[in-house]
Formats: sequence, C-alpha cells, structure tokens
Amino acid sequence: MSKKVITFHYTLTNTTGEVLDSSNGQEPLAFLEGVGQIIPGLEKELIQMGAGDKKEVHVPAAEAYGTRNPDAIVEVEKDKFPFPDVTVGQMFQGDESEADNSVLTVSEVTETHVILDGNHPLAGEDLNFAVEIVETRAATADEESHGHAHGEGGHQH
Ligand code: ZN
Repeated sequence: MSKKVITFHYTLTNTTGEVLDSSNGQEPLAFLEGVGQIIPGLEKELIQMGAGDKKEVHVPAAEAYGTRNPDAIVEVEKDKFPFPDVTVGQMFQGDESEADNSVLTVSEVTETHVILDGNHPLAGEDLNFAVEIVETRAATADEESHGHAHGEGGHQH
C-alpha cells in the first residue's frame, strides 16, 4: 500500500494560548506520512483523519520538539566569539560533528560571555494544533522516493 500525502491547515498555539504559527491566509502544508516531515505527535492524529475533518490536537513536548537538554547550552567567552556585534535571538550554524541539533540560538549576552542554546526553540513546550484536513491522497512514486510531498504546500521542484 502506498503512503498517503496529507494537506492541512493549522494554527499552532502554546499552553498559554499564544499563536506561534499558522497557515491561515497562506497555502496549507502538505506532508508525506511516515518519514518524519512533521512532529510525531501531530502526524499520528492527522493520518487517521479525512478531508474536511477538524480537530484540536494536544501534543506533549516529548512528541513535539522534545524535552530541553541542558547539555545543549554552551558558553563562549565573548572575546573569542567570532561576531562581536552578537545579539540575543541570533542563530548560528553549530559544528555538526558536536551537536545533533546544529542550529544554536543566542539566549544571553553578558559582559564576558555569549550563551548559545542548541535546543529547538519549542523544545520543552506542550503544543496545541487546531487542524483542518484539506486533502488526503496516495503518494506518487516520486514523492515516496524523494521522501517528501510535492505540489501545493509541498516541495516545488
Ligand atoms: Zn521531491
């Protein structure tokens, strides 16, 4: 049986109700099931839904972007940091041989140190997704071999 491609609209909120991301007013998102294109806690709900279905999906942190890893926080002496004008919120590509998540976000700049956090910005957060399925269809052979969805909301190439 071929895999499914599911196209859906979503609004992502955190536990305090703040909207973090939404596809409203944009193209819906399309994903290929079973390849980790979207977070596991959301995928397992979406694959059971059909076109037109709406649902509020609560995804605990462990099934979203994972729990926060204190070991992913690194301090660098400011005078050894290659970018003297660094500010909080900037992101840098880390050394891929050292970190499993290679994007580091500057979380703090002190008089002497730059503190970088390799955790995903949403690590440790329980998330709520209000979703609406636009379409479900069988994946094409190309999509299965590429490992992602094509067409509207998917990869355009
Ligand atoms: Zn492709």
